[in-house]
Amino acid sequence: MEAKAWVREIPRKQDNLSEWYTAVLLKAEMVDYSPVRGCMVIRPYGWAVWEAIQRWLDAEFRRTGHQTAAFPLFVPESLLQREAEHVQGFAPQVAWVTHGGDEELAERLAVRPTSEAIIMPMYARWIRSYRDLPVLILQWCSVVRWEKATRPFLRTTEFFWHEGHTAHRTAEEADAECRLILDIYRRLLEEQLAMPVLVGRKPDSEKFAGADWTYTLEALMPDGQAIQAGTSHFLGQNFARAFDVKFLDRDNTEKYVWTTSWAVTTRLVGALVMAHGDDRGLFLPPRVAPVQVVVVPVRAEREPAVLERARQLAAQLSERFRVRLDDREEYTPGWKFNEWEMRGVPLRVELGPRDLQQGQAVLVARDAEGTRQPVPLDGLVDRVGEELEAIQERMLERARAYLAAHTVRVEDYGEAVQLIRQRKGFVGVRWCGDTSCEDRLRDETGGSPRVIPEEAVNGACLVCGRKANALVYFARAY
Ligand SMILES: [Zn+2]
Repeated sequence: MEAKAWVREIPRKQDNLSEWYTAVLLKAEMVDYSPVRGCMVIRPYGWAVWEAIQRWLDAEFRRTGHQTAAFPLFVPESLLQREAEHVQGFAPQVAWVTHGGDEELAERLAVRPTSEAIIMPMYARWIRSYRDLPVLILQWCSVVRWEKATRPFLRTTEFFWHEGHTAHRTAEEADAECRLILDIYRRLLEEQLAMPVLVGRKPDSEKFAGADWTYTLEALMPDGQAIQAGTSHFLGQNFARAFDVKFLDRDNTEKYVWTTSWAVTTRLVGALVMAHGDDRGLFLPPRVAPVQVVVVPVRAEREPAVLERARQLAAQLSERFRVRLDDREEYTPGWKFNEWEMRGVPLRVELGPRDLQQGQAVLVARDAEGTRQPVPLDGLVDRVGEELEAIQERMLERARAYLAAHTVRVEDYGEAVQLIRQRKGFVGVRWCGDTSCEDRLRDETGGSPRVIPEEAVNGACLVCGRKANALVYFARAY
């Protein structure tokens, strides 16, 4: 009874994704609302997922020669205004500090919406010659963008991210950096989060304010809406010129550096929850789950040796995995099973008196509730490892099948409009590149151009009939 009531408190995912999403996040103790409008509190269970993402990315960034640093939270107004497109793009969302104590500041300070404008003046001081290049620095921090409508993780006024800022000798090197990072992000999403993505460029209308072009990764949520999962920007020499970042090249002439910036944010945690959860709650991929394995002793009150053996088992498993032993006496095993399922733990190990007699434990995967696998206690650790890998794999396969089934190319304008309106996923449309064609499709569908994959197209623009020069995937989006 108890256990069922617990699950009933979560609305059905397919009935109302939005309500399901919020209910699951709160119930699983991922986030809580805060006294500050638009800002959320990320609770330890939610932060642990972000930390797993951080750990993996940090290792990749180090492997590829990047370093971490910390720059100020505030950006003086005069610096933010240096790059015209940049300030125009961010102005509506900037939070300003106008006072220090009782004193009005001589110059307003922006709370960083992104840090190009505070980092570039430093690069202007640090970079002298081609020998100082490339500069490959990132910082982990939070930034603030004043949002009107917010949702936990997906859109909040303050959010956490890393922002990479690199400077290079040539345009080719800067573009190669953008692509290198894009590929690290793609692997993060696919290999760690079990979220396949479409990869490519943004159309100009959607690029980062101040960039020459923006690369993007787009994931698909279960309601057929897209979510931008990460971006990598080729900034050309725009910021170098605005902030006078020059170097003496090998040929003894002074040149502007080429810069990039790139980020993924805590939004990924929200996307992950939406992508994999079900009516019973969260389902976290083993590689980023804060608890990978929960050990639940069963009928331990009848047989004290059960608890003792469960403790040993948990300790043994802890050497390789993130493990929780649930030995709370006040809850029934059934209640515990439901709670850990709701919190998305990928694998459960049950141990009861009969199992103990037979020298086994029972494994139950989060996505195979009906399948109870008895496994000998000897060699259990290896089996748990194999099972976690298998779960990770199944999650990716399911997500791939979903993405493939909801990524279509159409030959007819009317069909494109219908599919985008109905949130049928990524709808591939041949496009001439003209903004008026893009805008017409936006206006008629409420969708937006998400990503232009790198591939040649032949044929006519589906909107105007002139020669197409790109394939662009449209979708409704978060
Ligand atoms: Zn056209």
